[in-house]
Amino acid sequence: MGIKLLRDVQKSDLEIACSVCNKPALKLTLIRGGLIVHGENFAYAVHLPKSKKLLIQARNGDYLPLEEAIKTARREGLEGYCNTCKKFYCNEHAPVNKEFEEGWGYDYSFMTCPLGHTKIIDD
Ligand SMILES: [Zn+2]
Ligand SMILES: [Zn+2]
Repeated sequence: MGIKLLRDVQKSDLEIACSVCNKPALKLTLIRGGLIVHGENFAYAVHLPKSKKLLIQARNGDYLPLEEAIKTARREGLEGYCNTCKKFYCNEHAPVNKEFEEGWGYDYSFMTCPLGHTKIIDD
């Protein structure tokens, strides 16, 4: 992929808090040409044009551009983010379930927000 880390990935550039309990729901770290997304269940690096702008928008509470960009890059959107509530939730408040298909193994993962909205976050 050729992604070069600009700095220690332990230090995240943005922590988005759970809208219920204020615990960290998702951490984002800027890297050259993209972002590292650290969720409680999944962590990955993603190539993303204009990642700094997306991070600034997310810091201001405008999560939709980031969600859309992540979805375009890897098909599934952000872990912890409910598209219906337009809010972030931690793993406790939006638990993730992994689905397995008989004979095939792991199929996909989905989260369920406190209001019952579901969203596939990995497939
Ligand atoms: Zn929470
Ligand atoms: Zn919801």
